[in-house]
Amino acid sequence: MVSPGKFMYIQDLFYSYQGEGPFIGYPQIFIRFFGCNIHCAYCDEPDRNKTPMSVDEVIDTISPWVKKKPHSISITGGEPLLQVDALKTLIPKLTLPLYLETNGILHKHLEEVKDMFDYYAVDYKPGYDKEFTDFVSLIKDKKGLFIKYVVIKDFPILDIQKMSKIISALNPNIPLILQPVTPFAGIKEKASPKDIERAFTCAKTYLSDVRIIPQTHKLMGLK
Ligand code: SF4
Repeated sequence: MVSPGKFMYIQDLFYSYQGEGPFIGYPQIFIRFFGCNIHCAYCDEPDRNKTPMSVDEVIDTISPWVKKKPHSISITGGEPLLQVDALKTLIPKLTLPLYLETNGILHKHLEEVKDMFDYYAVDYKPGYDKEFTDFVSLIKDKKGLFIKYVVIKDFPILDIQKMSKIISALNPNIPLILQPVTPFAGIKEKASPKDIERAFTCAKTYLSDVRIIPQTHKLMGLK
């Protein structure tokens, strides 16, 4: 049994380049936590290796990469906030800027660590509007915050409308990245140019900073 806080379940630790969103191309250390609280059809990081590691083991593994002075450390998953006790122990020992990648649902867990990050990449997951609202409310004025929505073929326009209205009411200047889906697992088809255009047009009605950015690490064969 893993003791909360002292150990964590890790899926992967590696050094690569950010492939999504406004920080594409920056070198990062990735600490990929194991496990997620939801199941997205397009998930490209399903549960694989559940490796219990101590905080010291994680620090030792990443220390050669820290010397390369990357842009930041991506705390990702899965859903890293599921292991918030471990994060509270690990984060004070990390010496680079921290970039949280999260599905934007576990707002009570975020509350415990909300000021510990420099960047917040928060997904909007349809069906979790209340959780998303509470989540973004906690960090709505943080400079490093952006929201990401994965555009799939024939997506319901109501999803974009609901998400955009929530963001707009909290802070209409929060950047929104529309990410056309990369076909994977349960998703066989790409979003069409028409899907992408109607997503952009709808979101831009409510928000000032909307961009379309696909996943690039897969194009380059990077992790
Ligand atoms: S929230 Fe992220 S990690 Fe979890 S199932 Fe969805 S895509 Fe995968």
